[in-house]
Amino acid sequence: MRQFKEQTRKVKEVTSIVCNKCGRVIPVVEGVPQEDVLTVDKRWGYFSEKDNRRDHFDLCESCYDELTRNFKIKMEEE
Ligand SMILES: [Zn+2]
Repeated sequence: MRQFKEQTRKVKEVTSIVCNKCGRVIPVVEGVPQEDVLTVDKRWGYFSEKDNRRDHFDLCESCYDELTRNFKIKMEEE
């Protein structure tokens, strides 16, 4: 989840990112998040139950680790 400071009606500046899973706040300083996050921005297609719905969320690194640790098939890493 992105939190914004509205500079003008059309220009918004991201001031922080909140992990949607644990609620931890990650500060953003001059446009740069102070920790890396996983950002998901998904537009569901016709062959889904969510036709054309757009979902957006952010996960902090520890919530990402917790999620991927439970994968039945281990993800590929480079
Ligand atoms: Zn988290």
